[in-house]
Amino acid sequence: MSSYVQKLYERTVKTELSDQGFEEWLKERYSKGAVTSAKSAFKQLKIMVDVKNKGTTWNDIVQEFLVLQKENPDNYLKLVQGFIQEFIDFSFHTRPCVRCYKKNPTDNYRGKRCPECQDTKEVSGVRAITIPNMITWIKKPMRYYGLLKGISNEDLRDDLILPTIEEEEPEPLTIPFIKAILNKVGGKRKLYWWFVATIGTRGSEGVQIVPSDCKFVDEEQMPVPYGQDYFRIKITLRAGTTKTKKSREIFVAKEIQKDMERLIKNTPDGTPLFRDPKSSITGTRDYNNELFREVCKDLADDDPNTFGILNKKKESGFYKFSFHSFRSFAVTQLNRVDYGFGHALAGHKVYMGMYNRLTVEQKKEYLEKSDEYLAIFTDAKQLNAKDRKIKELQQQHLDFEQFLLEKQKHQSTSIE
Ligand SMILES: [Zn+2]
Repeated sequence: MSSYVQKLYERTVKTELSDQGFEEWLKERYSKGAVTSAKSAFKQLKIMVDVKNKGTTWNDIVQEFLVLQKENPDNYLKLVQGFIQEFIDFSFHTRPCVRCYKKNPTDNYRGKRCPECQDTKEVSGVRAITIPNMITWIKKPMRYYGLLKGISNEDLRDDLILPTIEEEEPEPLTIPFIKAILNKVGGKRKLYWWFVATIGTRGSEGVQIVPSDCKFVDEEQMPVPYGQDYFRIKITLRAGTTKTKKSREIFVAKEIQKDMERLIKNTPDGTPLFRDPKSSITGTRDYNNELFREVCKDLADDDPNTFGILNKKKESGFYKFSFHSFRSFAVTQLNRVDYGFGHALAGHKVYMGMYNRLTVEQKKEYLEKSDEYLAIFTDAKQLNAKDRKIKELQQQHLDFEQFLLEKQKHQSTSIE
């Protein structure tokens, strides 16, 4: 073979599909900006795969897709759509920072704060308006690796659910804002808002919880008999009451455990904890939304310097903060415990698989860690100090028992 044909052959037939090859493939076809966008979207796609199923690589995905493409062509389109849909949901919510997800020690930003995430290790979801672009970018690696063979853009687009601007995540509230807002309401309403801010239920999920959904469980997640010490209050959101129509479990934050215990025990079963049975679910949800706005407006009017931002609108015309911001706070804080943990407790579909693989020990560890992140009125240091104090007292108690025991032994030997 002449070297000319040899080269041509290598370029056309023997080209192995690789990330390097992908980059070249992109450069031959698209502008510099498009190449950068596609590469960045590809990185995020790989992170999603890893978050969803730790250790799964892009090559695993490609191999498995290609097998199904051959063996199960009828359902293949659905599979590809499902994959892209997961990427849409993933991109739309707070997600790991691409630069920090797999830290590269030679990255020159080290030593300084990460410019993308300010070292929080996560970035907020993309705006609804950029989702169609995101889809365009991730289709590039999918096409390059042969996953879109025989699938047209129209076929793909048909069943995808694109988020709307209204669904964009509001900004999460900060602890001082939450404190100020909660202090403006009282009684059961305060407890409900505090509950949402530390557990992350959606507007219509929280108001459907009844006492029988709540179980007092020990560290192994086993129910403890009534009146005995428990580790956490576990609430099962029934399938019919969640947005995804799937049931999921959530846990009451330590800080409000005692208040919630009292409420659960004092509410007749069948009666919602946070809703007058005479009012509707949507009515209650809407009322809380409105009241939240009023409280924010009051705070902003009273003290524009500190609270002015609570009454500010985004470019889209929606308020920066809404009742939903309580939920955003809880999700953000729980994700700091372990990435994806918050999303799973919040019922974001993409993360449920990861949650279902957690062992009881991991759940216990994560829940204990979450205490300091979810403490609104208790200083985190104070919370730890309290725990330490309890441990100290328990130790003193043990020491004293030991002392008595020794003393008894001593007495009995001296009598002999
Ligand atoms: Zn970062």
